[in-house]
Amino acid sequence: MAIQVYNTLTRRKEPFQPLEDGVVRMYVCGPTVYDKAHLGHAMSVMVYDIIRRYLEYRGYTVRHVMNYTDVDDKIIRRARELGEDPMALAEHYIEEFERHIRELGLLQPHVKPRVSQEIPWIVRIVEGLIEKNFAYVLEGGDVYFHVPQKPDYGKLSGRRLEDLQEGFRIEPDPRKKHPADFALWKAAKPGEPSWDSPWGPGRPGWHIECSAMNIHHLGEQIDIHGGGQDLIFPHHENEIAQSEAYTGKAPFVRYWLHNGLLMVGDTKMAKSEGNFVTIDDFLKEHEADVLRMMVLQSHYRRPLLFNEATVHQAEAALERLRGGMRPAFPQAPGLDAARVHELNHQAEEARRAFEEAMDDDFNTPAALAALFTLVRHINQARDAGATDAQLRKAQATLLELAGVFGLTLTPEGPATGDIAPFVDLLLEVRQELRRQKMWALADRIRDGLARLGIQVEDTPHGTVWRRKS
Ligand SMILES: [Zn+2]
Repeated sequence: MAIQVYNTLTRRKEPFQPLEDGVVRMYVCGPTVYDKAHLGHAMSVMVYDIIRRYLEYRGYTVRHVMNYTDVDDKIIRRARELGEDPMALAEHYIEEFERHIRELGLLQPHVKPRVSQEIPWIVRIVEGLIEKNFAYVLEGGDVYFHVPQKPDYGKLSGRRLEDLQEGFRIEPDPRKKHPADFALWKAAKPGEPSWDSPWGPGRPGWHIECSAMNIHHLGEQIDIHGGGQDLIFPHHENEIAQSEAYTGKAPFVRYWLHNGLLMVGDTKMAKSEGNFVTIDDFLKEHEADVLRMMVLQSHYRRPLLFNEATVHQAEAALERLRGGMRPAFPQAPGLDAARVHELNHQAEEARRAFEEAMDDDFNTPAALAALFTLVRHINQARDAGATDAQLRKAQATLLELAGVFGLTLTPEGPATGDIAPFVDLLLEVRQELRRQKMWALADRIRDGLARLGIQVEDTPHGTVWRRKS
């Protein structure tokens, strides 16, 4: 069965069928680079990272584009406050975001266009819109998109032209032909970055960049367009209007995907709300997989609540998954063939449940539940005396499916890799001490390890250790 995806445009789940067999053209609105990025930004890019990983797992070749908005009112305003050059400020925060992509373990988008490098495409599209009467030029060089010219405007957000009050507030300009008309090109003001155009020097409005970058890097029609739910209106509504008016082709986007927002209490995490945690601050305290686990534990279209409890839940869940990768007990006697067969069957069953959940509009909480069930089966088999060889197939499945989520479970990962040989050595010494009945010394090793966060457990099959969460 095909993957089902919820399409904001049609407000229902649809079978996923890309324009070209086996190829997915995916565009995700990226950050406006004017300040340190916070977890709200990280969450949005991570949602589409997980979706891309799953599509690749299902055999699709994904062409993934994410833009940097490096020309924008917010950047210009902030640069002015700091007495800096706006382009230099943007460059600085692009470099920071590039570091975040690496530190958060995100797959690199194949193209990361910037507004400042797309001006020829933007100008070409604005010219085309003027030619087709979808846009008009005002004296002074501002260019506006004329919304009433596009009768299906509002189809994504479900808003009618009559009640587009927001549009009036966003860009008040008494010279506009209609209050909902929005800027495609803004005439240059002193001290602002500007580029030459047929209408004089100026810079693009916000929405046109994404139409231009889509058409330039992915084509006139694409498969998936992603972004936060706060972008549905006006940004994505305007993108549709511009793109479809320019190309004459509809739909511009086959599947509109919108992620829920990161919430602190009942307010979205935002710079303007002052309730944000920067990516850097979060990563000082937690590994990146904790954030990834938080994102996975909530369906992407739902709001994601950020608080101490949800962070702890994610940490515990990560620890539980990693527990499935623990080796067999040193003196495990082994299971009979039927019991091993059962475990391997349970692993196949977990894969089937994982795929079924992910095929259903990327239902990551349900897919995670399948992985936890598999962990429980692995742990039961280990406790019953399975050898490493007998656990291998089920553990390989767990490792692979967690990898589809972008999670790192292996002991070679950053959490335990470097200390394992040393702990093993200490436990060997402890075992020898116990054999010689030097209990006090043996206990000192165990207690000392406990203080370092290593829990030692003596089982009928030998001694094992793990990191305490
Ligand atoms: Zn955009």
